[in-house]
Amino acid sequence: MKSTISVKLQERCDSLCELCSTEKATAAFAVSPKDNDKIENEVAICEHCYSLIESNVSGNHWQCLAGSIWNTEPSVQALSYRILYSLKENEWANEILTSVELDETVVTWALSAFQKAAIHVDSNGTELLNGDTIVLTQGLNVKGVNFMAPKGTIVKKIHLVADNHEQIEGKVNEQTIVILTKFVRKQG
Ligand SMILES: [Zn+2]
Repeated sequence: MKSTISVKLQERCDSLCELCSTEKATAAFAVSPKDNDKIENEVAICEHCYSLIESNVSGNHWQCLAGSIWNTEPSVQALSYRILYSLKENEWANEILTSVELDETVVTWALSAFQKAAIHVDSNGTELLNGDTIVLTQGLNVKGVNFMAPKGTIVKKIHLVADNHEQIEGKVNEQTIVILTKFVRKQG
């Protein structure tokens, strides 16, 4: 996330932190999920701002974002928006968030940090979809119906549990049972 500040980035920020605009920029901070591969993804940042981002410390320091959010660089806008969003229960932060009009792509970039991937994956990390066929990677004691589904059991046409990405449903012995995704492997 943090890397050496390049000459180009130094020029862009005029050697000043692009968040607080007061302290010397000492590092390049890549705004996730993007990488340090180009300066368009980076924000020139000072030690102080960096330490606050890393420690998740909120506080009045971040009122400086009222200025940086107007920076013309999308990366600076995105990072400013992201930090403000994490502080949005504070009235001042919420006011800034509602007063700016950023490009939708910048907002999406900023908020990507708060979105958990809610996809179902098997024990190998392969994405599972409705209708897939899976194999049990270990024997399961099925609660309530009193039978054991042995390791290697094939379950066809699984159904993803919508509100729990660690669970799927499938038929074993004519019974629809809930299976944890960590105990399955996708077939095919
Ligand atoms: Zn700073």
